[in-house]
Amino acid sequence: MILVNEKKSLPHFQADIFRGCDFLTHAFCTRQGGVSREDYKSLNMSFSEGDDEYKVLANWSKLAEAFAVPIEQFLVVNQVHGDGIFVVPAQGSYFSSRAELDYDAIITDRPGLAICVKTADCVPVFLADPEKQVIAVVHAGWRGSAAGITVKVIDFFVRHYLSEPGDILAAIGPSIGRCCYEVDSVAAESFTTQKDKEYFLFPQKNKEKWLLDLPEANRRQLLACGIPEKNIETSGLCTSCRRDLFFSHRAAGGITGRQINFMMIRQANPCLVTTLNNKIFWR
Ligand SMILES: [Zn+2]
Repeated sequence: MILVNEKKSLPHFQADIFRGCDFLTHAFCTRQGGVSREDYKSLNMSFSEGDDEYKVLANWSKLAEAFAVPIEQFLVVNQVHGDGIFVVPAQGSYFSSRAELDYDAIITDRPGLAICVKTADCVPVFLADPEKQVIAVVHAGWRGSAAGITVKVIDFFVRHYLSEPGDILAAIGPSIGRCCYEVDSVAAESFTTQKDKEYFLFPQKNKEKWLLDLPEANRRQLLACGIPEKNIETSGLCTSCRRDLFFSHRAAGGITGRQINFMMIRQANPCLVTTLNNKIFWR
């Protein structure tokens, strides 16, 4: 991954694996370049962590301007540490806007919609099938990873879009690393049925504690789905070690902001979302 730090934009990381993909634009943003202060300094993109609303809104405006993508084209879901996948409906369809967007992954083949994952230690996994022109973003914390949310997204690609696993590209973005992620036996035991767990779960002297390598857990899941090793890129960046660059829930002791990660299929015409009579329309 490379750090892109251009004038008039925001510092962000881009995956080398997507370099040949002219049909998409993506960014793993850092915490730098925003207006929030103190615990949320500075590009906090979450309204639900205690930061001032107007500052978060100003940060969203900065993001929209930096990437020349109108704010209305960013789609964020609630992220509830589950394994629910939101598949963006086809043009012209709708669903009730009373329904909560309680999901941890988004899949779309709609151009002009920037699908987002907010993180502060959890793993943002970006998936793209250049052949079928479909993309997905996944929020994979330990619960989601234990539930195999990334595998479920790949299954959907294969069943619904007839993707060949050999065509799928994956970028595993900045997250907490093995270096900093000690978990208890509840988290560790949730992985017991997973293949190759000896490569990402390491017992500690204290029998109640384990070191968990979440990026590696997701990489192993992708490999098990048939994604070739050469198609998977891992950032190697630890959010907890690099608090200058990233928000880290663990390193901050719980009170902190969220960085944004997004991916979009490019198109001149935006995908717009309108709320009307308690329904959300996609056009
Ligand atoms: Zn670390």
